[in-house]
Amino acid sequence: TSAFTEVPYSAPEPLVKVLNKCAKDQNPNKIDVTIGVYMTEDGDSSYVFPSVKQAKQELLVKDPGHCYTKMSGVPEFIRGSQNLIFGEYAKDGRVASIQTISGTGSLHIAFQFLRSIGYNRYYLGNPSWVNYYPMIESIGGEIKEYQYYDNLTHEVDFESLEKAIREAEPQSAFLIQLCGHNPTGVDYSKDQWRQISKLVKNREILLVIDSAYLGFASGSIYEDSWAIRYLYEQNHEFLVCQSYSKNMGLYSERSGVIHVVLQDTRLRDNVESRLVAIFRNECSFAPAYGARIGAKLLNDDYLNKIWGKDVYSVYERVTNIKRQIFNKLTDLETPGNWEFVTKAKGLFWFSGLDKNQVNRMMNEYSIYMSENGRVNIAGINSSNIDYFCYAINKVVS
Ligand code: PMP
Repeated sequence: TSAFTEVPYSAPEPLVKVLNKCAKDQNPNKIDVTIGVYMTEDGDSSYVFPSVKQAKQELLVKDPGHCYTKMSGVPEFIRGSQNLIFGEYAKDGRVASIQTISGTGSLHIAFQFLRSIGYNRYYLGNPSWVNYYPMIESIGGEIKEYQYYDNLTHEVDFESLEKAIREAEPQSAFLIQLCGHNPTGVDYSKDQWRQISKLVKNREILLVIDSAYLGFASGSIYEDSWAIRYLYEQNHEFLVCQSYSKNMGLYSERSGVIHVVLQDTRLRDNVESRLVAIFRNECSFAPAYGARIGAKLLNDDYLNKIWGKDVYSVYERVTNIKRQIFNKLTDLETPGNWEFVTKAKGLFWFSGLDKNQVNRMMNEYSIYMSENGRVNIAGINSSNIDYFCYAINKVVS
C-alpha cells in the first residue's frame, strides 16, 4: 500500500476558485480585478518597469554568472534595502538584515526567528492578507485578532488596535502592514503611528512591519517609509519584512529582505547569524537574479531616479482611475457615498460590495474580484471603466 493514502486534499484559498472561473469565462467584457498585480492601461500584467529593463540589459552585458552568492544574500541588495528605508540610520549598525524569498519568505523567516526567541503570539488586524493565517499556524503560532477596518466609516478602527495592544501579554508580536494595506487600501496615519509607538513602548511587544507596497500609497518611497524611520528614532526594536514583488515588479524573481532593528549594535552579529542559520536550513542560498536587478535600482543614482518615476507612474495611474470611478458612480447616481474610493491607498479598493453583490458582479457581468469585495484598481482602464461602474451601479441599486 502507498505511504501517501492518508494525505487529504488541501483546498486552495477561495480566490483560486474565482481565478479558475475567470480563466474559463469567454465574455469579451470580462474584467479581472482579483490578484494584486499591477496592470498597465492596456491590461498588461507582464509589464516590466523601464528601470528594471535597463538593469537587465546591464546584467546581460556584464554577466555576473550564476555561482552561489553569499549565504546572507547579495550584499549590495541588502545594503541598498537598508539605505532605502532607514536612510542615514542604516550606518548606525543597529539593523541585522538578510535576503529572503520575497515578502512571503521574509515573513516566514520573521516567524521562525521570533519563535526561536519565545515570541509566538501574533495579533492580526481583521481583515488582512489571508496568507498570514496559515503561515503562522504552520509554525505553531497563536493568532489573536483585532478589528482593523471600520466598514461604516471606511477608516481604520484605531480603538480596536489600541485596546488589543493595551491588553496584549508580554512577548506578543503585532503584524502591521506599512502602507497600501491589503485588502482595505486604508493605512494608519502618521499620528496613529506615533500613538502605536507610545502604546508599545517598554511593553515586550514587537512590531513586525510588512512592507509589500512601498511607494504605491503616496507615490514616494521616502514618504511611504516614514513610519520605519520614526520607530527607529523612538528607539524601538522591530522587524521589517520587505518585498520587491510589486514596487519593482519582480514578482516571480522572489526578491525580498528581512530587517531586525536592534537597540544595541553588539547584538547584530548574533541576530544576523541566527537569520542566516534559519534561512540556510530551509533554502540555503537566496536567488540572485532579482536581487542583482534590485541592487542596481537601489544603488545606481541614475537607475534609482528612473525607478522612482516608475513607482510614481503606478501611483499616478491608480489614483487617476479611483478618481474616475468616483466621478462615474456619482454621474450614474449610484446609491451611497462613493468618495471613499478616492481615499484608497495603493492598488486596492475595498469596495464594500457584499458577498451577494460580488457574486452578481461575477455571474451576471463577468467581473471577477476577491469575495470580500477587494478590487485591484490596476485592472481597470479607460476601455473597461464604464462597464465596471455600470455593473456596480446595477448590483447596488
Ligand atoms: N504581504 C502582503 C500584505 C501582500 O499582499 C503580499 C503579496 N500579495 C505579500 C506580503 C508577499 O508577497 P511576495 O511574497 O510576492 O513578495
